Amino acid sequence: MQYQLTEEQLMLRDSVRRLSQEKIAPRAEEIDRTGHIPDDIVELFRANSLMGIPFPVEYGGAGGSFLTFIIVVEELAKACTNCCMLAGVQDLGAQPIVIAATPQQKEKYLTRIATGEWFVSFGLTEPSAGSDSAAMKTRAVLDGDSYVLNGTKCFISNADRANVITIFAKTDAEASGVKGISAFVVEKDSPGLSIGKKEDKMGNTATPACEVIMEDCRIPKENILGQEGEGFYIAMETLDKTRPMVASTGVGLLAGALDYAIEYAKERIQFGRPIATLQAIQFKLADIAMELEAARQLTYKAAAQIDAVTAEPGWQKSKSKRLELSRLGAMCKCFATDVAMRGTIEAAQVLGGYGYMKDYPMERRIRDAKLLQIVEGTNEIQRSVIAGTLLA
Ligand SMILES: Cc1cc2nc3c(=O)[nH]c(=O)nc-3n(C[C@H](O)[C@H](O)[C@H](O)COP(=O)(O)OP(=O)(O)OC[C@H]3O[C@@H](n4cnc5c(N)ncnc54)[C@H](O)[C@@H]3O)c2cc1C
Repeated sequence: MQYQLTEEQLMLRDSVRRLSQEKIAPRAEEIDRTGHIPDDIVELFRANSLMGIPFPVEYGGAGGSFLTFIIVVEELAKACTNCCMLAGVQDLGAQPIVIAATPQQKEKYLTRIATGEWFVSFGLTEPSAGSDSAAMKTRAVLDGDSYVLNGTKCFISNADRANVITIFAKTDAEASGVKGISAFVVEKDSPGLSIGKKEDKMGNTATPACEVIMEDCRIPKENILGQEGEGFYIAMETLDKTRPMVASTGVGLLAGALDYAIEYAKERIQFGRPIATLQAIQFKLADIAMELEAARQLTYKAAAQIDAVTAEPGWQKSKSKRLELSRLGAMCKCFATDVAMRGTIEAAQVLGGYGYMKDYPMERRIRDAKLLQIVEGTNEIQRSVIAGTLLA
């Protein structure tokens, strides 16, 4: 599989880099400290079509490929992981709609999501069904022209600002395992839907993670995505396609940490010379840069492969193609986010005691990197996915 960035992708990368370094990076510390993304930053995302890069042009998106999207994500994460997640969670929440919605559903929901007019969240995880998401307890029962949903989702990113949430629920209580799960679009003012506890998190403080509580929550029956029983497969295809986005967030976050560590090492004087002249420091920088580049290339490859495979009509019918996307998505997510975790810790070490202080941007990057090893399937689960595809 070959890939090369086009002239257009390089130009987009440069313009997003300029925008995010000038307008977003200087606000990253304040956003982390206050746990709030100011409205003008959200407007900046909307005005520059950053909320809709991977969505089809006919539904108001920018029509970018997955590769284009992850290049943009990398630049955003380099400046501020919280802001980057505006685009990332939008992609995660909307992919079930892209994958399985009817043209009418896309017209109604995707057009507003792609422009950033509406926020969307992805509701899979439950208090007792995390890695084992198929063990979900949320139920959806058809009652006349409505589905009635009961259950609680937890840790749902951006749920308190979402206008719609893609929710996964069991429609066939008797079916075991991954069977009998269906996907729905649930509007925030649906009767019986409420937002519960907002978690107090270690990092990514401005990306709220909330409970979504459904008590006899009634939604029109036409809000099902695909057919009854297809929900788990829609969720898994979503994650296969969005894991490179998480990987790219790790790549960008670490690239920003490396840039900072390099500049710091050149200026910090100990024993009468810049610490950048010490081999111990040089080797740290070299190790970070090596792993970072490997993570970036694996992530680009996974995204380019998604673009190539999903362009083939009927690709879902090919087991080997499905397995390939799962394997590459899991590989880049796991590798890049482990690299981001190790790398940010090493980059902080370059700053010595200052790396531990909140006045410097390293401890924030460590806290933000930790999350990436957990979301969209923990890195233990990614290893299981990879092994599963090898042994299939
Ligand atoms: C800040 C934040 C935001 C999130 N946003 C969303 C969101 O928007 N939407 C959403 O649906 N979910 C979201 N999640 C949920 C996230 O995807 C889950 O936390 C994750 O899948 C792990 O589930 P769990 O927390 O229940 O851990 P558990 O599944 O209980 O896992 C605990 C530990 O056991 C390990 N483990 C479990 N099973 C296995 C196994 N079979 N093999 C090896 N190891 C295993 C795990 O790797 C982990 O180390 C978010 C989570 C966080 C923290």
